[in-house]
Amino acid sequence: MTLKGQIADENGASTVPAPPYASQKPSKLLNPCELEIDLFCKGMRVDPSCTLESDARFITRTRAGLGSGLELVIPGPIKDVWVNVPVEEDFAQQSCYELVHEQGEYWVKDVLLDHRYSVRVPPEPAWYTRTTGRGTPMHKVGVLQGTYLGIYISNSCGFWYHSPTGNCKFCASGLNVGVNEVARKDIDDVVEVALAAKQESGSTFVHFNSGYQTDRDLDEAAPYVKAVKSRVGTLVGLQLIPTLDFWKYDRLIDLGADHFSFCYEFHNPVYFARYLPGKQKLVGQQTFFRALEYTAKKLGKGSCSGEIIAGVEPLGDTLRAIDYITGIGAFPTVCIFRPTIGSDMEQVPSPRYEDMLIIFRHLYEACRRNNIPIDVTPNIEVSLIVQPGDTRYLAPHTFASSLYQSEMAMARWLARPYFAWKMQPKKITASDVLTRPVARGKGPGVGN
Ligand code: SF4
Repeated sequence: MTLKGQIADENGASTVPAPPYASQKPSKLLNPCELEIDLFCKGMRVDPSCTLESDARFITRTRAGLGSGLELVIPGPIKDVWVNVPVEEDFAQQSCYELVHEQGEYWVKDVLLDHRYSVRVPPEPAWYTRTTGRGTPMHKVGVLQGTYLGIYISNSCGFWYHSPTGNCKFCASGLNVGVNEVARKDIDDVVEVALAAKQESGSTFVHFNSGYQTDRDLDEAAPYVKAVKSRVGTLVGLQLIPTLDFWKYDRLIDLGADHFSFCYEFHNPVYFARYLPGKQKLVGQQTFFRALEYTAKKLGKGSCSGEIIAGVEPLGDTLRAIDYITGIGAFPTVCIFRPTIGSDMEQVPSPRYEDMLIIFRHLYEACRRNNIPIDVTPNIEVSLIVQPGDTRYLAPHTFASSLYQSEMAMARWLARPYFAWKMQPKKITASDVLTRPVARGKGPGVGN
């Protein structure tokens, strides 16, 4: 028998493994990345001693509902790890982890093993409660996800309006339209919020995200990219439904885009088709691959990312995805599957800790083998995923690993002036109306 929303194979057996918590109980104290992974897998209960209303950021349900957790920082000797911990979902109520507040400090307690971990609860930025000059509440324009500013350009995704609906099965964004955020962002509002996030919260990166916009996805993003780059001066990333009109990526780069990420979610084409019916029917997995390959080559190693979900398709497919993404010079952003409330997969169990550990150890090794820069850009901590930089805690004690870490430390140091320059407002002359370039010489299309 399958649970509500769970996909069965031809024989009726669930294709998603159940989480046998008893067998996945780690017995030693976990390092920050291991704890991050385990918290994503198991979630956390919140003890009444916690005073989160005054201490924490409010919980949002942006980014396909993935921001539905509580933001925590796990301090550590290599780096502090940011994690958006599931607290609302059913599985989180069964978790061995509990957040407690004792003597003015927050701790995550593992009640089964009697371990405790010191954590920080990042406070709500002061600008969250302010309004823009147009009177829009700033937190409805964008929110911090970790340390970067996440802005959903438009929270209507065309996949939800098809019949039958083509929404991604794990997504809950169609349920949030008009609830958490304003539907379409005003450009001046965006600039104002991005300035507040930069000046008051030290954000260095603005990330624009959008659902399916009927092939106008990149066109609609262009004015926002230009405005932030020219009036704020931060790094700018885009996570949009891809296109084979590669000249549009060239134009967005001219306007100031520094990064593109492509959420193709599942490497296995059968899982891609099964769980992402809109992307399968109207976009196609190969479009994600071609656009990722194009932009990764154009912007250089470590600039773009392929985003996938771990814990639904077989492990081998996720490992192959990581090899593919790193092999083309991009970095993998791997979300641990979260059965968000209200999504079609709400009742599907969250993944096993041991399986996720295999994934992220592999991710570290794949980044090292392909010399992908990790944690080189300043102050970009993403709480919704296990960042490649977090996996430094999983590195084996080998010479190759030490060498890679030294090279990355050097790259971080050398890149400082470059990023300081990148984060100045720039005069942008390119038009933010995306029109196909006139054919010249080699022909139209790619504007190089
Ligand atoms: S593209 Fe998929 S994940 Fe993104 S908003 Fe639409 S349905 Fe949700």
